Formats: sequence, structure tokens, C-alpha cells
Amino acid sequence: MADCIFCKIAQKEIPSKLVYEDDTVVAFCDLEPQAPEHVLVIPKKHVESLLALQEEDKALAAHILVDVIPQLARDLGVAEKGFRVVANTGEDGGQTVKHLHFHLLGGRSMQWPPG
Ligand code: AMP
Ligand code: ZN
Repeated sequence: MADCIFCKIAQKEIPSKLVYEDDTVVAFCDLEPQAPEHVLVIPKKHVESLLALQEEDKALAAHILVDVIPQLARDLGVAEKGFRVVANTGEDGGQTVKHLHFHLLGGRSMQWPPG
């Protein structure tokens, strides 16, 4: 999608620190990390948010949650102690980039409730 910063990252049109890539997914370091490990996991195809996922995206969503995030957590060394996965959605959810992304945060103890 034109003018989507995460589409441009997925297509390597703007640089990022990639930590994972396959045919349908990329993961890269957040520009403003909120934890020692802070990675964004995104589908390569443009999906605006969790709310925009369609029936045909089920395999993609499962791939991200079942395969990619747990493996990344292990690779980043945060699986054993624990980590947080966040998908900010919409205005009240604090979503600033309108391309579905899962924050994977780890390497420190998290607080609850979030702000
Ligand atoms: P959200 O507020 O949930 O929409 O998260 C958007 C995230 O994208 C924020 O944590 C930003 O720091 C991050 N971000 C924005 N632009 C970039 C970029 N070019 N490279 C990496 N992370 C980015
Ligand atoms: Zn996009």
C-alpha cells in the first residue's frame, strides 16, 4: 500500500534492522525500543489492524502466533523468563501505524496494567 511505512519496510524500500523474514512475514527492531528486546512482527501484505483480518488470513495469523513469535522469543533469549506480545488496535488501543503489527517485548519485568 502506498505511503505505508511498514509496507515499505517489508519491501526493503526503507531500511530497518531485520531480525526475521520468510515468504509472508518480517520482524524488525522497533525504532524506539521500550524494552531491551523490542521487535515488531508484521505480515508482508498490508492489513490495517487485527480488525481487518479476513477469513483467508487465518493461516497467516496462525503462522505469526504459532510459529514466528515463539521462535523469535527463543532466538532473542526471552522465552524462558517471559515476554509480552501487544497488538495495539485503533485509536483507544494506541495504534499509530495502520499496518497490523505485533510488538514482542522482553528482557525486563513488565508492569500491569499498561498505560
Ligand atoms: P503502535 O503505536 O502500536 O502503532 O506501534 C508503532 C511502532 O512502530 C512504535 O513502537 C514505533 O516506535 C515503531 N516504528 C515507527 N516507525 C518505525 C520504523 N521506521 N522502524 C521501526 N519501528 C518503527
Ligand atoms: Zn502496510
